[in-house]
Amino acid sequence: MTIRIRLGLILMLIVPLVCSAEVIVDGAAIANEADGRNWTSYGRTYSEQRFSPLDQINADNISQLGLIWSLDLPGENGLVSTPLAVDGVLYFTGKFGNVTAVDVLSGKMIWRHDPGAIAAAGDRLRVMWGTNRGAAFWKGKVFVGTADGRLVALDANTGEQVWSTMTVDPRTPLYITGAPRVFNDKVIIGNGGAEVGAVRGYVTAYDTATGKQVWRFYIVPGNPADGFENDAMAMAAKTWTGEWWKYGGGGTVWNAITYDPEFNLIYLGTGNGAPWNQKIRSPGGGDNLFLCAIVALDADTGEYRWHYQTNPGETWDFNSAMDIVLAEIEVGEKPLKVILHAPKNGFFYIINRENGELLSAKPFAKVTWATHIDMKTGRPVEVPGARYPAGEVTMWPGPFGAHNWHPMSFNPKTGLVYIPYHDLAGYYNDTKIRPAEWRHEGFNFNVGVADFQDDIPADAGTSGLMGWNPLTQNAAWKVANPGMWNAGTMTTAGNLVFQGRADGKFLAYRADNGDKLWTFDTKLGISAPPITYQIGDTQYVSLLVGWGGGIAMAGGSLGAQHGWVYGRHPRRLLTFALDGEAKLPDTLPPQYVTPMDPPAFVIDEQRAIAGGNLYGKHCAWCHGSGAVAAGGTPDLRASQLFLDLGALEQVVLNGALHANGMPKFPSLKSDDLISLQHYVRKKARKALLAEN
Ligand code: CA
Repeated sequence: MTIRIRLGLILMLIVPLVCSAEVIVDGAAIANEADGRNWTSYGRTYSEQRFSPLDQINADNISQLGLIWSLDLPGENGLVSTPLAVDGVLYFTGKFGNVTAVDVLSGKMIWRHDPGAIAAAGDRLRVMWGTNRGAAFWKGKVFVGTADGRLVALDANTGEQVWSTMTVDPRTPLYITGAPRVFNDKVIIGNGGAEVGAVRGYVTAYDTATGKQVWRFYIVPGNPADGFENDAMAMAAKTWTGEWWKYGGGGTVWNAITYDPEFNLIYLGTGNGAPWNQKIRSPGGGDNLFLCAIVALDADTGEYRWHYQTNPGETWDFNSAMDIVLAEIEVGEKPLKVILHAPKNGFFYIINRENGELLSAKPFAKVTWATHIDMKTGRPVEVPGARYPAGEVTMWPGPFGAHNWHPMSFNPKTGLVYIPYHDLAGYYNDTKIRPAEWRHEGFNFNVGVADFQDDIPADAGTSGLMGWNPLTQNAAWKVANPGMWNAGTMTTAGNLVFQGRADGKFLAYRADNGDKLWTFDTKLGISAPPITYQIGDTQYVSLLVGWGGGIAMAGGSLGAQHGWVYGRHPRRLLTFALDGEAKLPDTLPPQYVTPMDPPAFVIDEQRAIAGGNLYGKHCAWCHGSGAVAAGGTPDLRASQLFLDLGALEQVVLNGALHANGMPKFPSLKSDDLISLQHYVRKKARKALLAEN
């Protein structure tokens, strides 16, 4: 025992000196479930279980868990990234794809790499939130996808660029928010953008040493006149109708990519259609492969192996891009290697990894669009009217999903999956749209069925954390969460599950029964999942704090309810260990925006309606539904700019705040700004009347 402790002390002393030379992060290291020292990949290991075998911090002593340091991160905004921990150094991604390395023992920054994505993004700055979910690590290099679509390899010791390659055509609206994954000396990345233009999704694998492309796989077929890239695309084309290629088709792989070393397969979780509305995209119907599916590819060649489609003919933004977790569980008393998947559509799927066979599917949240999944055909049995044949429908879930990208975790000891879930309806309305005439208008929110002109009320839905038993397809336990958009989870052999919440509380629960054991107030909404790792003899927990992502941007009052105001609360990296006694530095309390309403301003109703249409397409995506900012951007109702048309013109038409991430909109005219002003003033006045 003495020897072990001494060794630990010696390691603690030499680790900062030798840095990452000690551990080689390769395929064997990322596959090693039993070694809890490092967190080497987005989901910790290839299985993406986010389960750590460490148990120094456990259900019996969690009350002693305390902060050991916090690091303020000026210039950051929404932080949604899973840090990596390698040899005592944390690597995490932030705004638009910058990367920071922090030494855990000192709590100090080692290096920071800014890829300059805001300047490089061009027109795409209008369509991106600038969040980034994480980096990858392989043999001394850190890999990141930048918001403007580059894949960059950095030297892990210095943060200097080793190579950079452009993964998208910069003339398209494609951008990157997701984490790359590494396997067999290859690094793979996808992209996003199916809400904002005629895009065709794909993934590309590159050589980790050189950045040279190894293979690329498209998710949806292109124009048949150009020929198909492979047999899979020829097969997929038979499931599309009309002239889908003119709309891009969508199917972006913006989040879920899992490598399975046991079968040497890559599993992709594919995105929604572009546009969402199938009446436009594929007017004669059809399954529209490979939208909203899990697609398995040969990891060496990128060749198609199998697929399972969760939403044939998707028309609701029900992408299957939520994390894909690998596990071995007993199905019918036989241990099987399976995928666990809880996509937006509200069903929990268990799929055979070897061949894509559906083994089980049951709803884990409120679902009204389908009655069940038919186990004979593997297809959902949709409710009449779900496809809004008469032009509108309200149903559960909606575009924000019963579960979104906030990662779930799986604990092999409890057998439970910890899912942050939503019960939130969606409203789809295409009554004002003529499908045959509808066209994408470049670089703005454009989905053919909905926009975010109207606010989303704070009580629009409910959310929670559940321990889901995949064997019985039931929740073993559930706890309510505040509001919506609570963060992803991490679970440990110490019978714990950790989760950060939208209200800024960081909690630990007993993994087997959901008893709440520990709470820490981080004083800002949490959107990133925690990690755990070990240096010497000490187990640590680290977490990024920085309200961010969809509901923190477009969510209106649903996201604004916690009082996180743009630029007000410091973004931070926090690290905890047993007996930690550090105090979080002071921070301003939550605040609620007070809209301005100059009484002399006469609102022109027609102008306000025209402005609302412009707002829904161009502004709501970042500045919030119904002109209510949800914390990720300034609230326009309280903005001085909207009282001064000259200044507004400088910002919106000429790009005066471009360096901050505010894009310019050269397609808008000065007259459009007047309409926008009337819309924003109307929303401000309405909000003040409602309060009084
Ligand atoms: Ca989407």
